[in-house]
Order: sequence, then C-alpha cells, then structure tokens
Amino acid sequence: MSVDRKQGAVRASGSGIKVTCPHCEKPTIVRTSEKITRQTRQAKLICTNADCGHTFIVVVEAVKTISPSATPHPEVRMQGPTLKHAVARPVSA
Ligand SMILES: [Zn+2]
Repeated sequence: MSVDRKQGAVRASGSGIKVTCPHCEKPTIVRTSEKITRQTRQAKLICTNADCGHTFIVVVEAVKTISPSATPHPEVRMQGPTLKHAVARPVSA
C-alpha cells in the first residue's frame, strides 16, 4: 500500500504500515489502537520529532479485496476484484 498526499504519507513495510507526521513528515509511533468495525481500526499516533510533538488519529479501513477469503464473513462488504470476463448473458429455455 502506498498513499502519498501533500501532507504526510502512509506506506507499507515488512512489519506493518508506516505513517509519517502530516506536519513535519518524520516517522510516528502508535500509542493506542482500537477496533471500530470488522473492517475499520482507529489508532492514535505521536510524531517522533521532539520539536513537533504532533499527536493525531488515523483510521485504517479494509476497502477492496485482492484475493477472496476462503472463510468469508457475512458482515464484510468490500469492493471485489474486477471480473473482466464476467458478462451477463440471457438465459435460453
Ligand atoms: Zn511532526
């Protein structure tokens, strides 16, 4: 995953998602993290730059399936992979 914006950035690493401070763009650390829904998690982050000290909230949401689950949960509703060859055809009797 890679989401770069004018201020701050989110990028994946080998051990998790790294979020930089939207103000000074230095690394942050997660102070607390809690489940909001089955697909959404909220975390409080603090900037590691002592001169900045920004503390803020981020929300991480599962939004799109790349490869379907073998054990799907009925409450999970996500955009699925694009099925380019799935075409609706009239049923002939
Ligand atoms: Zn900062």
